[in-house]
Amino acid sequence: MDALTVGYDVYEIRKQFPVLKRELKGKPLVYFDNAATSQKPQVVIDALVDYYSNYNANIHRGIHTLAEEATAAYESTREAARMFIGAGSVEEIIFTRGTTEGINLVTNTWGRANIRRGDEIIISTLEHHSNIVPWQMLAEEKGAIIRVIPITENGEIQLDEYYKLLNEKTKIVSIVHASNSLGVVNPVKQVIDAAHRTGALVMIDGAQSTVHLDIDVTALDCDFFAFSSHKLYGPTGVGVLYAKKEILEAMPPFHGGGEMIKEVSFEKTTYNDLPYKFEAGTPNIADTVAMKAAFEFINSIGKENIRRHENDLLRYGTELLKNIKGVHIKGDVEEKVSVISFVVDNIHPQDLGILLDNQGIAVRTGSHCTMPLMQCLKINGTTRASFAAYNTREEIDKLAKGLEKAIKMLS
Ligand code: PLP
Repeated sequence: MDALTVGYDVYEIRKQFPVLKRELKGKPLVYFDNAATSQKPQVVIDALVDYYSNYNANIHRGIHTLAEEATAAYESTREAARMFIGAGSVEEIIFTRGTTEGINLVTNTWGRANIRRGDEIIISTLEHHSNIVPWQMLAEEKGAIIRVIPITENGEIQLDEYYKLLNEKTKIVSIVHASNSLGVVNPVKQVIDAAHRTGALVMIDGAQSTVHLDIDVTALDCDFFAFSSHKLYGPTGVGVLYAKKEILEAMPPFHGGGEMIKEVSFEKTTYNDLPYKFEAGTPNIADTVAMKAAFEFINSIGKENIRRHENDLLRYGTELLKNIKGVHIKGDVEEKVSVISFVVDNIHPQDLGILLDNQGIAVRTGSHCTMPLMQCLKINGTTRASFAAYNTREEIDKLAKGLEKAIKMLS
C-alpha cells in the first residue's frame, strides 16, 4: 500500500536509516517525533565519518591540501543550501547553529540597528518560543511593542486581523511557516506582500516547513528565512539564515572574532565580505559538510514524492485517530504538514506518551515550546505524532491500536 501511494519504495528508504532497525521495549521502534528532530540516513552519517577520517582541517585559512578540501566541501554545502531554498546568491546564505540562532542573529543585528522606541513587531499566536523570546528581549531593550496575530480555533491565523495590525509603526513581521505544534501552514506569501506594502520587513521561521514544502525565498520575497538541518535528516548544531543581500550588507555583524574581518588594528577593524561577516570563529565544519548529504538525500527521493507520501500518512492517520472515542485533533485544516496533534478527554498527554513509549512508539507530548498557543487553545498540551519520509501506514495502525490500549488503561 505505502509503496503504491508514494512514487518510491518506503521500505527501501527505511533501510537507509540505521536507527529504524532498533527495538524499543522489545518492540520495533515507531518513530513519530520527526518535528522535534528527524532520524539520519546512512549517507549523512557517512559524510560525518568521511570528513573526520579523511580531510578534517580548519577552513578558509590554510593553503595545505586538507584545508583546501575541507573549505571546498564546506562551501559546496553553501551552494547546495542556496539551491535548496531558491536564494539568488551564496552571499545570502549564513551558516548558523539552527533556526534559534538565525532568529537571534536578526534580532541582535538588524533589530538593534533598526528598532526604536514605539516601533511595532508583529508575530503570531502560533510561534515557537524561539520566534517569541528574542523579539521580546529586543522589544524590552528598545521600548518597542509586540503585536500578536490571533488565530481561529482551528489554528489558522486570522488574516483580516493581521491586516488591521499593520501600520506605519510596524517594522518587522516574524512568522512561522508551518506550526510545529499543529502542522498548520501559514499563508506566508500573503503575509509578506501585505507587510511590504506598509514598508515592514518579514522574517520566516522555516524550521518545520523546509523539509516538507518547496521553498523559494526569491519567489516568496521574504527578507529573512531561517531553518535547522536536524529537522531535514541532517546533523544537529547547524542551520541556515537566508537574508537579502542588501539587508545583510547594511546590517552590523553578530559575533566578533576571526574570519569575520578583513583587517584588524587596535584602532580600527574592517569587516569581511558576505557571508563571512556573519560567521565569526571556527564554524561547525563537519556538520555543515554533512548537511549537504541531507539535501542530496531529500533531492534524490524528490520533495514532491515525499510530500505525497506524507500527505497520505497525514490523511490516513487523521481518519484513524478521529474515530477513536475521546480523541480530538487540534489544527485539523486543509493546509498542513504531516503533524497530528491531539488531546484525549480526561487524559494527560504525558501519561499517554509514557504508555505509547512502552509500546515502542515515540511521540512528543506537552506544549512543544509554544506555551502561548496552548494558553490560547485553553489546553495544557497535546500529544503530537509527526511523520517523515520513512514512516508507514502500518506504523500509524500501531499508533491507533496503542492509543486505544492506552486510553483503556487510563480511563
Ligand atoms: N521554530 C519552530 C517552528 C520549531 O519547530 C523549532 C524547533 O522545534 C524551532 C523554531 C527551533 O529550532 P532549533 O531548536 O533547531 O533552533
